[in-house]
Amino acid sequence: MPEYKMYINGGFRGASDGGTLTTRNPSTGEALGAVPSATADDVNDAVLAARAAFPAWSGLPQAERNKFLFKIAAAIRENADEMALLECLEHGTPYRDAFGVCMGAADKFEWSANAALRIKGDEIPVPNPDTLTYIKREPAGVCAFIIPWNLPTIMTAVKIAPAIAVGNTCVLKPPSVNSRIGLFFAEVIAKSGLPAGVVNVISGSGAVSGALLASHPEVDIVGFTGSSETGKSILKAAADTVKKSVMELGGNNPVLVFADADVDACLKVLAWRQFNNSGQHCSGPGRYYVHESVYDGFAAKFKAYAENLTVGDTSGGDKSVDMGPLVSREHQTKVTDYIKSALSEGATLLTGGTASETGYFVAPTVLTNCAHGMKAAREEIFGPVAVLIKFTDADDVVRLANDSRFGLCAHVWTRDISRGLKLIPKLSAGAVFINCQMLTNEQPWGTSIRESGIGKEGGDYGLREFLDEKLVCVNYGG
Ligand code: NAD
Repeated sequence: MPEYKMYINGGFRGASDGGTLTTRNPSTGEALGAVPSATADDVNDAVLAARAAFPAWSGLPQAERNKFLFKIAAAIRENADEMALLECLEHGTPYRDAFGVCMGAADKFEWSANAALRIKGDEIPVPNPDTLTYIKREPAGVCAFIIPWNLPTIMTAVKIAPAIAVGNTCVLKPPSVNSRIGLFFAEVIAKSGLPAGVVNVISGSGAVSGALLASHPEVDIVGFTGSSETGKSILKAAADTVKKSVMELGGNNPVLVFADADVDACLKVLAWRQFNNSGQHCSGPGRYYVHESVYDGFAAKFKAYAENLTVGDTSGGDKSVDMGPLVSREHQTKVTDYIKSALSEGATLLTGGTASETGYFVAPTVLTNCAHGMKAAREEIFGPVAVLIKFTDADDVVRLANDSRFGLCAHVWTRDISRGLKLIPKLSAGAVFINCQMLTNEQPWGTSIRESGIGKEGGDYGLREFLDEKLVCVNYGG
């Protein structure tokens, strides 16, 4: 079995005690390779390397730093095919999506470099004479990034690119189930000639390596994406040294489909989102409230959409596959348990519901006759399972949409734009999508609503999370 290496201080090495974890091909369950399981010494080495690299990296003129980010983007493009095939192999991403994801990762580095050129200070007028007061934006220091398994390549870029663009250094820990993707990303970054220690990538379990990273006293910012439960324990670990924490956590996003919705357009966007990446999307639809007058037609079209998908082994890069497996046996079991619980609570299985023994597949599934109070409607399934709930009262449906421990985003489908706009302040969510769903480099993502997170990621808002705002006050009167 091949053994892969971590990227620490510009070099590649195994864990100091030789410990490893096994990663698997989710399409078949077969072992792919051994990745190092970072020890406390390895975590410490990586953080100290980032700390040592910080003064020189943060001191570079922006244009000089940007040259390295452009070289990373070029290296990603040159290796995009290999990176994409690894996404297919270790995460179960269909090749058609995987290649675009890698190109998107390259874009993140270029976009962040260009956006960093726009960073400016702010002068603050004060009543005192002969006094200059202003805010100077400075890189915050060493960032620790802990990422989830559901979007491994793009998530690596989303974390690293803005942080290093504005002068920080970092240590990233990919998820243990598909960390070879993060380690290969590090090999690609190394090809750019980036100074040693600016980016470090370690692998290992969340409970050990992740927890050590989140609590390390030399880390200034923790950037985490993952479940709300893990987010809470990371916040506790980061609290001892009062670290700034940017948290992108769980969601169970409501979709409101009104009687006047363009159902075909809605399904083109959301049924795609439901099954793309096997439904493992934080911004994807979690529960659908569909007006009774269009409910049956909506469900029938959803069923047809699901049954038309080609589900299959992604590991060879087969371009005909629409949907691959879930990421792990554990997650497959979790998703099928939600299906079983919905059926036991009275839902109807319109299509799907089956799980494979070879590989970690769950068939595209549509559940009807669901109710707001069912476990499958209240929790985050994070899989290819559409939960359809019928509603009659347009006012009450907003209450149902907001009745959740999450508040990541909400989707509204109506031809009445006035109705849609009036709903925006009523929906308790960090993002509201009306008749569309898109996330671009320019748009910030994330929310501080309930258990869905703290702070922003992406866009200029996300860039600013990695900058300290220093107050400067100068008396020039003598
Ligand atoms: P997870 O919380 O299980 O794991 C995320 C990461 O945390 C992994 O790298 C894991 O190794 C690490 N980890 C686990 N325990 C840890 C600990 N005690 N200390 C430090 N690190 C630890 O999440 P997941 O199952 O990999 O991903 C799915 C979740 O991520 C879903 O809840 C989804 O909504 C969420 N997510 C949110 C967003 C967003 O932008 N809000 C985006 C993608 C995914």
